[in-house]
Amino acid sequence: MAKDYYAILGVSRDASQDELKKAYRKLARQFHPDVNPAPEAQEQFKDISAAYEVLSDPQKRQMVDLGGDPLAPNGGGMPPGGSPFVGFQDIMDAFFGNSAGRGPRSRVRAGADAVLRLELDLHETAFGLEAPLTVDTAIVCATCDGGGCAVGTTPVTCDVCQGRGEVQSVQRTFLGQVVTARPCAACQGFGSVIPSPCATCNGDGRVRSRRNLTVKIPGGVEDGMRIRLSGQGEVGPGGGPAGDLYVEIHERRHEVYTRKGDDLHCTVSVPMTAAALGTQLTIKTLDSEELIDIRPGTQPGSNLRLRAKGVPHLRGNGRGDIYVHLDVKTPTKLDGESERLLREFARSRGEELVEVTKQGGGFFSRVKDALK
Ligand SMILES: [Zn+2]
Ligand SMILES: [Zn+2]
Repeated sequence: MAKDYYAILGVSRDASQDELKKAYRKLARQFHPDVNPAPEAQEQFKDISAAYEVLSDPQKRQMVDLGGDPLAPNGGGMPPGGSPFVGFQDIMDAFFGNSAGRGPRSRVRAGADAVLRLELDLHETAFGLEAPLTVDTAIVCATCDGGGCAVGTTPVTCDVCQGRGEVQSVQRTFLGQVVTARPCAACQGFGSVIPSPCATCNGDGRVRSRRNLTVKIPGGVEDGMRIRLSGQGEVGPGGGPAGDLYVEIHERRHEVYTRKGDDLHCTVSVPMTAAALGTQLTIKTLDSEELIDIRPGTQPGSNLRLRAKGVPHLRGNGRGDIYVHLDVKTPTKLDGESERLLREFARSRGEELVEVTKQGGGFFSRVKDALK
């Protein structure tokens, strides 16, 4: 039974060569095993390829139009095109004009970026500094000036590819001749070989070197920020342009302050009596000493704000704030005299009995002070 090759390609019986090509290209993109791993795609791709092979050949197409099947087992044997499994890229190359002729690749390539971690104290991130850095990167080899050749020698043209950097092979397929190009193995695609490599860099054109730099860190930087030093990264192969160096800021934990953005938070413990009677405290900020007032009747968990005493903003003027969280300490060990005074104090306020307030309801109860 003859296959309907037109239906397989989804074209009409009077489709032009161009329409056949378009239809096949579209289906190949969809079903080629290189791009479609589904097991049934392989079978479909074979059918599509057979249909294209038959219909794109005027003689075979005529046989089909007369009701025959040029690919039938008794109709002429295996197709002369051989395996339909031409690589997907080769099919695309055959249709789009191919990828051959890219030419040799350059030995000189751009270098990679480098990242350096810089640990700073809170004071340093807040106000900035000039930080000395020791950088270990690739630099241009001074012996060969990046060229990779021993002094007095030059690269010579590769005789395998005659300097093209690639070798071409011609595959005969039902699409006609497909020319494919692969990088030349003898010269790694460079088109030339270095007969005597520079002894200093082994022909790479660059060497590793340690050098000292100074980086200016602006005030207000934060943990995780990166500062870019243009062109201070790795030099590329063949002495290619250097990448950038990124200095990544890591802020050390401060013993007093926790940073949130440009605000600083700290916790100060005040004795219960000081919280009740009020007092003054001296707080050391990053760059000053501030006298703060603890008002009489200060409650546990309250906080004070010192405006514009935090970290200077990286962009624009001004600074964040300092939040002083107050932790009211209740005495844990009372001597006889203190206890007597506290009891007297409680009595004077009618607080020998503790009022328990249950949250979320109007339920009150009075319980006896456990200490009597
Ligand atoms: Zn060198
Ligand atoms: Zn070559």
